[in-house]
Amino acid sequence: MADWLLGPAGPQRWRVTQSLLALGAYAVLTLVLAWQWRLDLIRTRAALPLGLSGLACGMVFYGLTRSGGNLLLQRRFGWEPSLTLAQSIAGLVGALWIYLVAGPTRGAALGLLVLVVVFAMFRLGPREALGLAAAALLLLGAASRWLTLSDAFHFPADVEALHMAYTTVVLTGVALLAMRVTQLREQHQQQRVALQQALTRISELATRDELTGLPNRRAILDQLATETARHARKKLPLAVALIDLDHFKRINDQHGHAGGDQVLRGFAHRVESELRGGDVMARWGGEEFLLMLPDTSVEAAQQCLDRLRERLRQTPFDEVSPGLSITFSAGVTGCLGQGDIDSAIERADQAMYRAKQAGRDRAEFG
Ligand code: GH3
Ligand code: MG
Ligand code: MG
Repeated sequence: MADWLLGPAGPQRWRVTQSLLALGAYAVLTLVLAWQWRLDLIRTRAALPLGLSGLACGMVFYGLTRSGGNLLLQRRFGWEPSLTLAQSIAGLVGALWIYLVAGPTRGAALGLLVLVVVFAMFRLGPREALGLAAAALLLLGAASRWLTLSDAFHFPADVEALHMAYTTVVLTGVALLAMRVTQLREQHQQQRVALQQALTRISELATRDELTGLPNRRAILDQLATETARHARKKLPLAVALIDLDHFKRINDQHGHAGGDQVLRGFAHRVESELRGGDVMARWGGEEFLLMLPDTSVEAAQQCLDRLRERLRQTPFDEVSPGLSITFSAGVTGCLGQGDIDSAIERADQAMYRAKQAGRDRAEFG
């Protein structure tokens, strides 16, 4: 039943609910009007068209939103899909109509008028809402004037002026309140953006190495856990390699710590530009790096490391010192699944140690 009345879940259902609530309000007002008519405080000639128009108006807005006509109006004319402005104008006209025909109870219509403007102020932009409030006051003034001119005995000018004065005070208060709410909403939005940026920054700091911009040890371990599980499921090979720069102490000694840092950055940059998408190199610590090569056999990983060594030979670190060339030693192994990560890294470490022992600038299997 609710689905039939309100339609499928989503923002449109919320709009349909709003328009159904408005229709409910129109129905209640019509009942009040009927009561007033029973008490002989309003003439049939005045009450009937008013009640029927209210109900028809509520049904039109409900039908329009339930059928998706509001979205069509949005596409065609750029209307806001909740139809707030159109509904507010209809509400305003209704409230003024009641004011004109309700006789001694017309003061209550002012409450309805304020209600319409309050709704509009919280949903429309400040300029449209203020325009609506100004239009409400102007039209109320015109209606008051017309009543006095047509029957000064029942609608004395002083009483009408007082109605105007009270309404002006209330609407001004509402406008100030709405401005404050808009301000708070904007502040809230800014804080949310700042919080989001801070979260992004924190997650960057937690997963990236500051010097090289590469993923850090924690990040590569997370990625290894995900990738190894996927590869074991699909029975695909995955290789890991531990890389250690050769004689890095000398670089620091000869070119200073800043020169060493520059070499680490340059090394990361050179390797990254040589890797395929999906391959990940992380800074494991100091001048050690861990390479994860998905869908790669140990033999293919060996070829990849040969390519990296060739690349290093061809592009010396001229930015640190002309002709400065560096080499690395690596240990390569295959990782057999999530439970094998720690031992695979251990095997790679031992293989890398053997590469050092064997004279550096090479890769060994583990
Ligand atoms: P080996 O070929 O045996 O690996 O020789 P090595 O000199 O590279 O040996 P070792 O691992 O003992 O030395 C690594 C050096 O790397 C020592 C340390 O000062 C330097 N290092 C570690 N982290 C950084 C860093 O972030 N910046 C710089 N500039 N140097 C670093
Ligand atoms: Mg080392
Ligand atoms: Mg080293």
